[in-house]
Amino acid sequence: MPKFLKNKIDPYIIDVIGRLRAAGFETYLVGGAVRDILLDRTPKDYDVSTAATPEEVRRVFRDRHTLIIGKRFRLVHLIRGRDITEISTFRKRPEQEDQADRPKRCENAPENMIFHDNAFGSSRDDAFRRDFTVNAIFYDPVDDKIVDYTGLGVSDLRAGIVRTIGDPALRFEEDPVRVLRAIKLVGQYGFTMEPETGRAVRASLELICHASPSRLSLELEKILRNSYTGEILKAFHDYGFLRFFLPELDDVFETPQMDYSLKLLALRGERIRGGIFRASLSTAVAMVALPFAEAELGQTEPGGLWDYYAGVETDLRHVVLRLFHPLVLTHRTTSDAVNNLLMQLRFKSHRKLHSLADRKGYPGAREFALIQNILTWHIPDFEDSCPLPVRTAGASKKRRRGHRGGRRGGNGNQSQAEQTVHAAAQAADSGSAAIDSERDSIV
Ligand code: ATP
Ligand code: MG
Repeated sequence: MPKFLKNKIDPYIIDVIGRLRAAGFETYLVGGAVRDILLDRTPKDYDVSTAATPEEVRRVFRDRHTLIIGKRFRLVHLIRGRDITEISTFRKRPEQEDQADRPKRCENAPENMIFHDNAFGSSRDDAFRRDFTVNAIFYDPVDDKIVDYTGLGVSDLRAGIVRTIGDPALRFEEDPVRVLRAIKLVGQYGFTMEPETGRAVRASLELICHASPSRLSLELEKILRNSYTGEILKAFHDYGFLRFFLPELDDVFETPQMDYSLKLLALRGERIRGGIFRASLSTAVAMVALPFAEAELGQTEPGGLWDYYAGVETDLRHVVLRLFHPLVLTHRTTSDAVNNLLMQLRFKSHRKLHSLADRKGYPGAREFALIQNILTWHIPDFEDSCPLPVRTAGASKKRRRGHRGGRRGGNGNQSQAEQTVHAAAQAADSGSAAIDSERDSIV
């Protein structure tokens, strides 16, 4: 185990955990951030778990910059600028549900499906209510100490194994979103499934139809913001899961258009990981849709775009909505994605680029165009001719609820102005399909 893992963590998070600890509450860093620091990747956001109740957490921070969210699964959002840290109270695994307690719309759901999971518990309980061993590793940055209650988290992470905690078939029935989360780990990290977990995943694919649409839309958003979007979609397709999750995309997955989308996403992912591009949701949506829009508008080769005509926006919008059906992207995300697509024509033709400076979606569209230039356009000096616009920092105040933070920290490859633009665009891009107050159980 490497020493001084805490050096890889944002000092602000260490301070947050330190304050809860100093107030007498056992507290850990949990979830994806622990996975990432142990794998030497940069965490994209931080989840904290504590013995303090949501009200106690607020008191520790003197009610400042905190918001209690969620109706059933209540947790605290600690807000710093555009970033939100989720602080949840240790929970325990729910008892078997009484059939009478099920929401009416879920009467046909699997027998063991869980709808309520809000009972507080100990840190050990909290580890065992989590989905996979690699997701149940706790890290205490104050004492630089790993707590691995399942005893398998760290070794599974080292070996790259996805293993459910407890009986896989039961855990997937309890919450079918875990099927998606298991395959996502395969795509994002190149992990393999432990055999029993793999068998249960394959036998449980169809259960996803019982998951709530708002949770699935939230998972889709997270996948599209992820720098491994293409790899995750490929894993979904390989496992036969995409058919149930995004059937329209599955139908066209083995086409030259999808190959082109995956190439765009791969180049974008490399640049997000290098800190050069933003993890923009609408740009990812536009990259998936572009080749299909081109085909629909008469292009035989990806990269050729289309000739502008009045009403093209509506046609582009239909392509976007169709590909992600039945999941619903927010109106804002769809509009920004369409905007990104429309702007490709302007970039390719190099017309009046200076007049685009204040357009919403311009940085994302520019990043998109840079990648298209590498793949197909090959316009010399393209990057120099479309610099990023300089904007004021004001737009970053528009933080929207539901945003769970993004790429953090400065980055050596960008000027101050670029960082400001990226910050503003990321804030504007953060409309989340998940509605906090309706957050479904089991998070
Ligand atoms: P990401 O890097 O995509 O955020 P993550 O594992 O942190 O991945 P989150 O949705 O942020 O995913 O969840 C944080 C943690 O909460 C997970 O690591 C896991 O321990 C727990 N968790 C999330 N969803 C479930 C679930 N459906 N069932 C059990 N535990 C879950
Ligand atoms: Mg997380």
